[in-house]
Amino acid sequence: RKNIAILCSGGDVSGMNPALKHFVEYALKNSLNPFFVYDGYEGLIDDKIDKASYCDVAGIINKGGTKIGSSRSRRFMQKKYRAIAKQNLDHHNIEMLVVLGGDGSFRGMDIFYKEHGVKFCGIPSTIDNDIAGTSYCLGVDTSLNIIRTAIDAIRDTASSFGRAFVIETMGRECGYLALVSALTSGAELCLIPEVPYNLEQYEESFKNQIAAGRKYFLAIVSEGIKEDVREIAQWFEEKVGIEARVTILGHMQRGGNPTVYDRLMAYKFVSHAIDGLLNEQHDSVICYNDGGFTHKSIQDVAFQKYQLDSELLCHLQDLYNV
Ligand code: ATP
Repeated sequence: RKNIAILCSGGDVSGMNPALKHFVEYALKNSLNPFFVYDGYEGLIDDKIDKASYCDVAGIINKGGTKIGSSRSRRFMQKKYRAIAKQNLDHHNIEMLVVLGGDGSFRGMDIFYKEHGVKFCGIPSTIDNDIAGTSYCLGVDTSLNIIRTAIDAIRDTASSFGRAFVIETMGRECGYLALVSALTSGAELCLIPEVPYNLEQYEESFKNQIAAGRKYFLAIVSEGIKEDVREIAQWFEEKVGIEARVTILGHMQRGGNPTVYDRLMAYKFVSHAIDGLLNEQHDSVICYNDGGFTHKSIQDVAFQKYQLDSELLCHLQDLYNV
């Protein structure tokens, strides 16, 4: 029986625990011995590597975060520590690795593969949905649902008190979370880094809406836009003429019980990752597009800039006249 390990690297997402559970089950089903590497590449270097069993993954499918921990590792950027990591894998006789992480983690693994030949498959995992080559990253749906719950709650108070709420979502340079959240919560304004905007163009219309009886506004803005979220609130107060408040959702967007969709995607990503490794796909990322899964090279995933879905961008233009 061959040994196979899984680790989480970079930001944690909801969906990692269901992935760990299915990893153990699917590895055993395929006559492989499953191992966990704890705390990402740091654990690879420090030999925090252990056999995994059904008991280790019992009762975790409904939990956010990751039971085996994650990390960012400066040491893994250095050749000498990657050599130690390889020694540790050899010590446990581990030939294959499944890596849940973002593009940085995949670039690190690519170097590791080229230096030491460790076969690996990456599973795109980030709430930002900003990895090139895949339309979906594990954790995005749970994050969107957490945001939806927050926006629904904010709407209750905004409508009762007659205020504008400017809600900031995560996403770094990617506006996916903000855009989908705005479209699905009926927000009046959506600002994302990918699309230039001019607040002046909304002033007349927003003032007219207040004159016609509108009591409140919801504005969803992505953290990567050029202005600070407080400046948008100030604009509402000074130029539109409505009291405004800011809510920065922050790290709650990374937690929460994984949704049904993320549990199912975790299941599918892991199955395809292990199938790929068993079929000589050695240095790849499993990507999801148009309802199907394909293995893509690190070059096509971790060295390209992601593109925001063009249909979603059209909806943004239609709805918000940008
Ligand atoms: P997130 O989307 O959460 O940022 P990520 O995988 O992109 O996830 P990074 O911090 O960019 O997160 O990368 C995770 C880890 O991958 C780094 O801490 C480092 O250990 C390793 N890594 C990234 N780039 C390299 C590289 N060029 N060489 C070696 N290791 C790397």
